[in-house]
Amino acid sequence: MRIYLDHNATSPPHPDVVEIVARLLRDEFGNASSVHSFGQRAKTQVDEARNEVAALIDGDPGEVVFTSGGTESDNFALRGAADALDPRGRRHIVTTAIEHEAVLTTLKSLERRGWKTTLLSVGERGVLEPAALEAAMTPDTALVSVMHANNEIGTIQPIEALARIAHAHDALFHTDAVQSVGKIPMSVKALGLDLLALSGHKFGGPKGIGALWIRRGLRLGAFMTGGRQERNRRAGTENVPAIGGLGVAARLAREKAGSESHRLAGLRDRLERGILAGVPGTVVNGDPGRRVPNTSNISFDGIEAESLLIALDLEGIAVSTGSACSSGSLEPSHVLRAMGLPHARARNSLRFSLGSTTQDADIDAVIERLPAIVEKLRRLTRTAVGLR
Ligand code: PLP
Repeated sequence: MRIYLDHNATSPPHPDVVEIVARLLRDEFGNASSVHSFGQRAKTQVDEARNEVAALIDGDPGEVVFTSGGTESDNFALRGAADALDPRGRRHIVTTAIEHEAVLTTLKSLERRGWKTTLLSVGERGVLEPAALEAAMTPDTALVSVMHANNEIGTIQPIEALARIAHAHDALFHTDAVQSVGKIPMSVKALGLDLLALSGHKFGGPKGIGALWIRRGLRLGAFMTGGRQERNRRAGTENVPAIGGLGVAARLAREKAGSESHRLAGLRDRLERGILAGVPGTVVNGDPGRRVPNTSNISFDGIEAESLLIALDLEGIAVSTGSACSSGSLEPSHVLRAMGLPHARARNSLRFSLGSTTQDADIDAVIERLPAIVEKLRRLTRTAVGLR
């Protein structure tokens, strides 16, 4: 039995998503910009998907621009806002030290263009205090970017309060909601956002498709130049099958939002209780009260997380250390370090992320097998240290 607990890295596409992607690829091959009926049928699919994505985040369809995924959406938001704001001469961006690389690396690139970035650290539970943002705002601050839920620990930020602070200082507010959209209810209106990034493959949609929500009236230049697709904001022939797949994933996520979130939180809590009770020297990282329902990050004393990850993989259990993009590297997670965790604990941590395919039996199996695997690794580590 293979157990997949790495849904934050990517989630298996829902069968209905696979079906529509295959159907659109085969039957609706028209170019959505073409005037003839083939093109118009493809365009109808794109329009329907846009309605579904807008409904999922409580936005208007005209505010949704399809992109190639979360990374592009973050790039579009940050680079687009920087371009639009440049003439105002205010060139300061505030963000957090726990953002995904899609944000952090993009901001580094803006720094080379003369923008200044303030990276705010977070408390030991991974939450950014609104007072810390308030204190970082200067008359030069033009943009604030804070992720909605963190990909490693699942902690949800107080986005509504943070956006209010940004606006009080006449700055724009972007949120990377890649790990929240499709998992918990989301309202761009209630949160008072200017920009929101989402990604299809994190909630049962295809890879290589995502969207940037841009508040109506916000003038953001074209990210990709060329044709006039996406109202001149993202040129290039639309990826109709992937867009259709994203639309179906968005509809499914909206339809079962409450019940699925409740189911996953129950499984996640049972997994945590089982691990904490069965494996001594374990502790949960993040904020247990403010998290997406599918994520648990746990430190295991005296073990390199990478070794545990490999041992679990050999047993058919897939989990992750830190963010997917840095798996394979032995650098401790930048998120856990920004929370002030000791180096050792940051290197001892595994992320378990659940999703639509996770069942009770998966949780039972992990709780049953983990104690022996951890004990064996600890024994080996002690022996290796003793031999040195
Ligand atoms: N932002 C966050 C918080 C993520 O977790 C990820 C993916 O891991 C991304 C952005 C990038 O999304 P994509 O894989 O669609 O480019």
